[in-house]
Formats: sequence, structure tokens, C-alpha cells
Amino acid sequence: MPYCTYCGFEMPPGTRFCPSCGSDQMTAPVFEARGSPSVLPLILGILGIIVGIFVPLLGIILGILGAVIAHTDKNKRSNAYLGVCIFAIIVSLAVWALNFIFLMSLIAV
Ligand SMILES: [Zn+2]
Repeated sequence: MPYCTYCGFEMPPGTRFCPSCGSDQMTAPVFEARGSPSVLPLILGILGIIVGIFVPLLGIILGILGAVIAHTDKNKRSNAYLGVCIFAIIVSLAVWALNFIFLMSLIAV
């Protein structure tokens, strides 16, 4: 038994139009290209972690940039990339905080 390519309704064999949604089965639905996700967020995330250790502000910017790209890319693997980018932001913030504490301790002394 064929199924409607649009709504999944079980179609009687030989019918062209779906009895449920009325869509033409001869014209295949256009699915959005869901190929491999962009690896750019992953690269930005890893770069953000490395750069963030030395230049925290730059690491945060790279992490946010990667997170935004991963967020717009609706792909399952992008969630993992998003995690890497968020980790880059956290690492950068932690380094920034440590630097700040270090500087403050220098001034205090
Ligand atoms: Zn249908």
C-alpha cells in the first residue's frame, strides 16, 4: 500500500491525489537538503578553546560565532558542535576570570 509523500496517509493503489490532504503524488515533495552539517561550528569551537586560553575575548567571540552557526544549522550533529562552542565560551570565561583574579592579586600586592 503506498503512502502519501506529504502527510503519510495510506493511499489506495493507483490514486494520484491523496484523499487526506489532496496533494499530487506525481510531484515529489521538496525536502530541504539535510546533508552533512557544516563543520564550521566544530572548527570555531575547537579554535575558540585553544585561542581562549591565550586570548579569552577572542575565544568567546569564536565560541559565540560557532554556537550561532550550529544553532541555525538544524542537524543532529550540530548539537554536539554547539556543545563544543559553549565549552569554548566557558573555557574562555574561566581563563578571563583567572586572569582578572591574577591581575587583581598583582595590584593588591
Ligand atoms: Zn496526503
